[in-house]
Amino acid sequence: MQVVVLASGSKGNAVMVEMDEVKILIDAGISATRIRKGLASFGIEPEELSGILITHEHRDHIAGLTTLSKWYHLPIFARRGTLAALSCAVTVPRELLHPVAGDFVLEGLKVESFATSHDAAESVGWRIGGSEQFVLATDLGFVTSNVQQALEGADILVLEANYDPDMLQDGSYPWPLKRRIMSNRGHLANADAAWALARLKDRPGQVVLAHLSEENNRPEMVEETVRKILHRQGIDLPLSVARQTEPLVLSTENVMYQCS
Ligand SMILES: [Zn+2]
Ligand SMILES: [Zn+2]
Repeated sequence: MQVVVLASGSKGNAVMVEMDEVKILIDAGISATRIRKGLASFGIEPEELSGILITHEHRDHIAGLTTLSKWYHLPIFARRGTLAALSCAVTVPRELLHPVAGDFVLEGLKVESFATSHDAAESVGWRIGGSEQFVLATDLGFVTSNVQQALEGADILVLEANYDPDMLQDGSYPWPLKRRIMSNRGHLANADAAWALARLKDRPGQVVLAHLSEENNRPEMVEETVRKILHRQGIDLPLSVARQTEPLVLSTENVMYQCS
């Protein structure tokens, strides 16, 4: 499996997952041009994508969707509530929109959406399963038992670690926005991400801490906070931190053997 986090953070999100020779994009929250160029730098053409999975309708997850759809006509998969909310925000041909409820199969990969607690119509995280397991969970007010369960057993896990509570409290955001971020339908604090990792029974192979706030977090800080909490629990996990502007690439060693 190869994962390219093209961008992650409050200003735009897009992640490409390649598993068993199938390529899927999750969210299109940066411009279509950035997505095209970002993929091209890894030798990938957008036409190779089998589809786009959308977590929810907030702008930082869909900003490039209209243009991307116009250029490449890729099928878009999301919950019904998300598609309804999307239809107010983007102009996408109806035939590209595919509502999902339970699991579905995309080019041989099992794709599952799981509900997240966030202030959007019907936000979800995604699990993609084939010869390996990939899980993405961002934009979480808190880790519900349903989400905690969905995080189990990933080879690569992308998990939100949005803010440091002290930076948020002391920062310049107006109080209603601070309250929204900290609420059960807002975003996940660094320590809460760490505790969700610590609680896992079937630990992930690699963890990407993602969707960092530009105002209320620092990459070094999130890594230190999460490492410290895990260390105190006697847990050591390979961690990396996704950035807003530079892509992050991860791959697993799993070799595919094909009968020739
Ligand atoms: Zn959101
Ligand atoms: Zn977001």
